[in-house]
Order: sequence, then C-alpha cells, then structure tokens
Amino acid sequence: MVSKNKYLRQLPKVDEVLDLPEVKQLSSTYPRPLIVDGIRQVIDGRRGAILSIPDKDLESIELSTSSLIKDLEDWLKKQYAPSLKRVINATGVVIHTNLGRSILSESAIEAVINAASSYSNLEFDLDVGARGLRHSHIESLLVRITGAEAGMVVNNNASAVFLALSTLAYGKEAIVSRGQLVEIGGSFRIPDVMRQSGAILREVGTTNKTYISDYRAAVTEETALLMKVHPSNFRIVGFTHEPTLEEMVGLSRELGIPIMEDLGSGVLIDLSMYGIPYEPTVQESVRAGIDVITFSGDKLLGGPQAGLVVGKAEIINRMKRHPLARAVRVDKMTLAALEATLREYLDMESARRKNPTIRMILTPADELKSRAENLARMLANSLGDGFVIITEPEISRVGGGSLPLAELPTTAVSVRCKFATANAVEEVLRRSEPPVIARIKEDAVLLDPRTIQEGEEREILSAFEGVNLNLK
Ligand SMILES: *Cc1c(COP(=O)(O)O)cnc(C)c1O
Repeated sequence: MVSKNKYLRQLPKVDEVLDLPEVKQLSSTYPRPLIVDGIRQVIDGRRGAILSIPDKDLESIELSTSSLIKDLEDWLKKQYAPSLKRVINATGVVIHTNLGRSILSESAIEAVINAASSYSNLEFDLDVGARGLRHSHIESLLVRITGAEAGMVVNNNASAVFLALSTLAYGKEAIVSRGQLVEIGGSFRIPDVMRQSGAILREVGTTNKTYISDYRAAVTEETALLMKVHPSNFRIVGFTHEPTLEEMVGLSRELGIPIMEDLGSGVLIDLSMYGIPYEPTVQESVRAGIDVITFSGDKLLGGPQAGLVVGKAEIINRMKRHPLARAVRVDKMTLAALEATLREYLDMESARRKNPTIRMILTPADELKSRAENLARMLANSLGDGFVIITEPEISRVGGGSLPLAELPTTAVSVRCKFATANAVEEVLRRSEPPVIARIKEDAVLLDPRTIQEGEEREILSAFEGVNLNLK
C-alpha cells in the first residue's frame, strides 16, 4: 500500500489539469462541463488502475501529463462526436431501413434548408392574410399526381393507417383477409395497430385463399370498413387467391361500407416498364375507386419519412379534423422535402432522373459494371498485395420491405484479405470515418456500386487503408 500511495499522490487535481494551457485550448472546441467530466474520468481511470494492479507492475502505469491530455482528448472526441452520422451504404440495398431508407433529391434537400432556416407560410394563407392549412402545400400535388379527390400527410405510414382506422372504424368492425395480417418489421403488426386504433378486427378467409364471398359473409351491422393490406416484405405463392381491387370496391359500393388500402411502399411509377417486377401503383388503387389509400413517403416514393393519404374528400376531411391528426402531424422540414419530391413526379421522366431511390433502382447494369471495375482498379492499385480484388455478378435488393422478390442485377467488387477474415475487415470498415457498411459473402467483403454515392470511392479506399494499418 505504501508504494501505491506514492503513485496515487502523483495524480493531479481536476483544477490543476484545467489550468494546463493544452486543456485551456480544448475549451474552444468542447463545452467546459464536458471537459471537467472528462478530466474526472481520466483521473478516476488512472486511480482505478493503480489500485487494481499488482505492486510490481505499478511502473507500467502512464502518469505523465502528456498521456493524460491525450486520453482526455480521445474521451472528448468520442463523447462529442455526433451520434447520427453519414455512412457509406455499400450493401446495394437501396431502401435500407437501418441506414435511413431513402435519401433526398437535390431540390428536396434545398427545400429542407429553406424551411429550416427561415420563417415560412407553413400555416398562413398569403392570399387572404389569414391562417392556412399545413396540408394545403402538398394536397394539390397529391391530387394531380394520383388522380384522387383529396390528400393529406402525417408523420409516417404507420400513423396514417392508425388515423384512418380510428376515423373510420373506432368501436366498429373492420374486415381483413387472414393472408394480409402481416408484420412489417419494427413490430408494426396489422392486428396490433387495429386494436390500438379502436377498430375491431374481423379476420376472413384463410392464410392462402380468401374470396370476395368471405368478406360478404362476414358483414354485419357492426361492419364499418373493408380493409386491404399490401403484404410488403412477404409473399404467399402457389395455391392462393385474393379478390381483385374491383371486386372489393364493388362489394364496398353495394353495401355502402368504405374500403381502405394500406399500400405500404406506394410507388407512383410503374417500374415494370423497366424490367422490375410489377408493384401496384397508387394511381391504380385510386382508379379502382378505393376510398382511402395510405403509403410511406420514404420507401419507393424516395422522399422523407411521412405517411401519405389519398382518397375521397369526405373521408380525408374527417381525418384532417380528427383529434389524433394533431398528434401525428408532419413537421415543416418533412413537408418541404415532400413537396419538392412530389413536384418531381409531375413529370415521371424527371422523377426517374432526379429521385435518388428510383435512380438507384433503375441504374443500368452496364453502368454498375463499369463503376465496379473502376472501384476495383483503384483499390487494387493502392492496397498492395494483401488483398485479392475481383468484380463479379451479384444481386442488389430494393429493401424496405418493397419488392421483396426483385433481384436487381449488379456487379460487385469482391475483396478477400489474405491476412484477416472477412468479418474482421467488415468491422474495420464499419468503424472507419465515415463508416463503410458492406456485405459479407463467404470469405469476401462485397461492395455494391448501386448504393455508393458519387465521391465516396476515395473514402472507401481510405477505410481499406485502415485494414492494412489495423490488421496487418
Ligand atoms: C412499411 C409499411 C408500413 C409502415 O410504414 P412506415 O412509413 O414505416 O410507418 C405499413 N404498412 C405497410 C404495408 C408497409 O409496407
């Protein structure tokens, strides 16, 4: 203990460290309370080490001022770094839910900056000089693009479904096919959402086959809604049956019971024109006469997180006035981004070129091949002989529960490291600045150019240089 005391006495006081010129300088970068906390942490760390180490090893503990300052700086850097940060998506999964789903088009980004940095007419009608409606900014665009009578926007599609159910079927029954009682992910389960909204779920049919007659037979005095749900990330194939939109709408009209559809992804362009598997469009559900259609803003639409609702004016107006509407309302930056995103859809060709989500999904295979070859060449030229780098045909995915069966042909760069496992390489890439998120296949790390943005190749190279530094 005598010798430990000698070492403990060498530990500086917090105030002494604060007075060091190097530490004073840190206060131009970091908040002072954080610096004080950091000094305590670093000193406590040293104290703990002195107390726990055998006496004979005490010599090995670094007590110099310079090492203290270095540890303090590392601690501060880690604490103060933004938690939410840019990452490089090299997975080829376009709507990657864990990586923030869609990225915005240039005009949408500009709109967000404007909305965030100035006052706006968010709820002010400039023509009459009186209070206006938040929904007005996108309603006419939604109406023009989808052909619906009316539209509104809320925080996300989950809340759009919730609000629609609550408005139309609170305390009443809503009829849904068993095959559509799906879990979307992130614990969004249709039966749970229905229960929470106050609607009473009436399941009809079987998992694989549901007929229009099943719906008809389930209708009672208590029925307030027919509901159709897009199965999203899930497909029932083989011996199956679901009624067509027309049959569903026919029954709804005949009985005077409204019909809603949760479309999930909500694509506005028929992507089958470009060789992508067919996905029902919003316009088609509107044309079929569905009363309320809900879909996400940040899936195949390629905009900000939002829930869009289009349909009959009478119902949409009730939804706008519902007390829950305030709880699920959308903020001005989202609204700005959404308006700019939707404006690009006024001309589908312009959306195809400008919307990053659509553009990435439709990037031609030969362009991906040449981008993969360029990236492979750059890595091979710079990384030395510790790596085997080739390009190979691969499949990218749309992601986000959209088009789960779509296989988008791509060319990936496959990197095998001779001195480390693919898992170890993947970890170094993931811990780089910016982090590079890659896939692993067998013992190779795969980089898919489809989701790698312009200018990110250099950063990928420097992440691989980190592999050489850390693992060799
Ligand atoms: C994704 C999805 C949702 C949830 O949408 P969010 O915008 O993520 O809230 C609901 N229903 C279906 C069918 C979906 O695909």
